[in-house]
Amino acid sequence: MKTPRFATTPLLAALLALTLAAPARADDDFDSDVQPAAAAAAGGAAAASDPRYVWDLSTLFKDDAAWEAERQALLAEAPKLAALREGFGRDAASLRAALDRLSAVSQRLRRLWTYASALASTDNRSARHQERNGQARAAWGQIGSATAWVDGALRALGPERIEAFLRAEPGLERHRVRLQEVQRLARHQLTPEAETALATLAPTMGATTQIRTLLVTTDIEWPTITVDGQPVKVDNIGYQRLRAHPDRAVRQQAFDAFFKTHARFQGSLGAALAQRVELGVANARLRQHPSAVAASLAGDAIPESVYRTLVAETNKALPTLHRYFKLRQRLLKLPDLAYHDVYPDIVTPPRRYTPQDAAELTLASVAPLGAAYQKQLREALAARTMHVYPAPGKSSGAYQSGVYGQVPLIFLNHQDTFDSVSTYTHEWGHGMHTLQANGAQPFETAGYPLFLAEIAAFTHELLLADHMQKTAKTREERIFYLGEAIERIRGAFFRQAMFAEFELATHDAVQRGEALSGTRMTRQFCELLRKYHGADAGVMRIDPVVCTEWAYIPHFHRPFYVYQYATSMAAATHFTQQLLTGSPQARDTYLGILRSGGSRHPVPLLKDAGLDMDSPRPYQALARHMERLMDELEALLPANPA
Ligand SMILES: [Zn+2]
Repeated sequence: MKTPRFATTPLLAALLALTLAAPARADDDFDSDVQPAAAAAAGGAAAASDPRYVWDLSTLFKDDAAWEAERQALLAEAPKLAALREGFGRDAASLRAALDRLSAVSQRLRRLWTYASALASTDNRSARHQERNGQARAAWGQIGSATAWVDGALRALGPERIEAFLRAEPGLERHRVRLQEVQRLARHQLTPEAETALATLAPTMGATTQIRTLLVTTDIEWPTITVDGQPVKVDNIGYQRLRAHPDRAVRQQAFDAFFKTHARFQGSLGAALAQRVELGVANARLRQHPSAVAASLAGDAIPESVYRTLVAETNKALPTLHRYFKLRQRLLKLPDLAYHDVYPDIVTPPRRYTPQDAAELTLASVAPLGAAYQKQLREALAARTMHVYPAPGKSSGAYQSGVYGQVPLIFLNHQDTFDSVSTYTHEWGHGMHTLQANGAQPFETAGYPLFLAEIAAFTHELLLADHMQKTAKTREERIFYLGEAIERIRGAFFRQAMFAEFELATHDAVQRGEALSGTRMTRQFCELLRKYHGADAGVMRIDPVVCTEWAYIPHFHRPFYVYQYATSMAAATHFTQQLLTGSPQARDTYLGILRSGGSRHPVPLLKDAGLDMDSPRPYQALARHMERLMDELEALLPANPA
C-alpha cells in the first residue's frame, strides 16, 4: 500500500540543464517505474470526473489551439535566438538584453511543456496527448540547439569582464547566479569540438536506461500466482500490492516469483546498469572531476564529503533500524522476521481519508509555519490545480509541477488511505516551496535545487505526523500513526541511504578498474541487504533470492540522486523539531530557505540556517528522533510481550 514519492527530471531537460532552466518536476515513486495505474480505486472512478478533483489547465492555455499557436510562435523564435550570437556580450546593455530574451523564451517554453506533460500523464492512452508531449519535447530540443552556444560565449567573456558588466548594469543582477555558475563550472568544460561530439552522441548514451525500461515494462513475462483463489500477475504493480499482503505466505510467494524473474534476466539488466555506471566514471574523467559522485554533485556545489558522511553515519545508526525491525516483528506477532515482512501494516488503519480530509489535516498541521503560510496554502488548495483520483490510463505516483507566477499543478492518485494523505501534504510541501520561492525571487533564481526540494516536502509530512500523533483519540490510533512515522524514516532515510551506498560501491569499483556484472551487483547488494537488516545479528533473514532487488530499482539509472531523500529527511527532521518549539525565529529561518529558491548553493545556505549537512549531527539527530518515536510506541504496548 506504500506509494512513495520520487522526483524526476526528463533526461532531455537534464542534458540541456546548463542552457535553459530545466523543468524539474518533483515526484513520483521512490522505487517503481512510472506506468499507467492499474485501475481506478473504489470510489475513484465515480469521483474522477468531479470538477473539484480535476485540474483546470485553462490558466496555462485557454485551449489546445492556443497551445499550438504558442508552439508555432516559439519555434519561430529559434532562428532569432541563434542570431543573438552575433555581437553577444559586446557590452553590458546588450548582454542584459540578450539574457532577458533568453529568459523570456525559457519561461514560455516551460509553460508549453508543463501543459503538454500534465495532460499526457492524465491519460497515457491518448494519441493526441502523446503527440503533443512529443511536440513539446521537440520544441525544447530545437530551442536548446539554437541556444547551445550561450554558455560557451559566457565563459569566453571571462570572470573579470562579467564582474565589470555586473557593476555597470544593475539589470544584470537577476542573471548573476547563472553568470557566476558558468564561470565556476568552466574548468570542467571541454573544447567546443569535444562538447559538440559529446552532444551528438548524447542520445545514444541513454539507450541502456531505455533497454532496462523496455525489458521490465514490456518484454519480461512476469509470473502469475494464485491469491485468494484469483490469479495475480507479479509485475511491478502486482508486486507492490502483494508485498503488503496480510498473509505471510502470499508475501513470500510474491517475493520469490518477482525476484527469481529478475535473477533470470540479471545478465542483461546487469549489463545495462554497468554501462550506466561506466558512463558516469568516464564523464568524470573527461571533465576533470575526482570521481563520478563528485561530478554528479558539482552542479549544486555539494561537497563529496556530504555524500560520504551520510553513508558513514547511516551505518553507525543501523542499531536504531534493527530495533525497529524487532519491534515490527513483535507487533506482527511473527516467530521470526524475513525481508518480505517489511511492508504489511503493523496495525489496522483507523479510518479512510477523503481528499477533503487530506486538505483539512494538511492545513491544520502546518500551523507552526504561521497564519500567512496557512492562508496562502488555503488559497492554493482552492485554485483547482489538482488532479486527484486514479483513472484509466493515468500515470502512477504523484508529482508537483510549477509554472512561474501561478499556483503549481499537483498530480495525485488518491486512494483514501493515510499514505495518500501523506502524499497529498508532501506534494503541497513542494507546491508551497514553489510559491514561496516565486514570491521572493525573479524567474531566473526561483527554481530551487533538488537537494533542497525534498526538505520542504518532508517537513510537511513530519508536521502532519506530529499533528496526527497529538490528536489521536485512542491507543490504537496512536500506535498506527507512530508506526507510520517510523516506517517513513525507514523508507525515506535508511533504504535510500542503502541505495546511495550501493551506488558508491559500484562506481568506486569501476573507478578502481574492476568489471561489473549482474552477478557481481547481486553479490554486492546482498551484502548491503544483510548489513542494513541485521542478518548476521539474527534481526532479519535475507533469503538469497531477494538479492536481485537492485534490478528492480529504476533510479540506479539516475546515479547519485536518491541520497537526497535521505539528506532531506534528516534536514526536515531538524527543521520540524525547531518549528514545533513555536519559535518565530525558527519559522523565519525555515521560510528563508524556501524563499531563497535557487539563489544560493544549498549546503552553505543550510549551514547559515544552523544545519551542517557535512557533519554527523543531522544524521545523529534523526536516529535519536526515531528512537524517541519507538520509546513512545513501546510505552503503548503491553508490558510483557508474548
Ligand atoms: Zn517529493
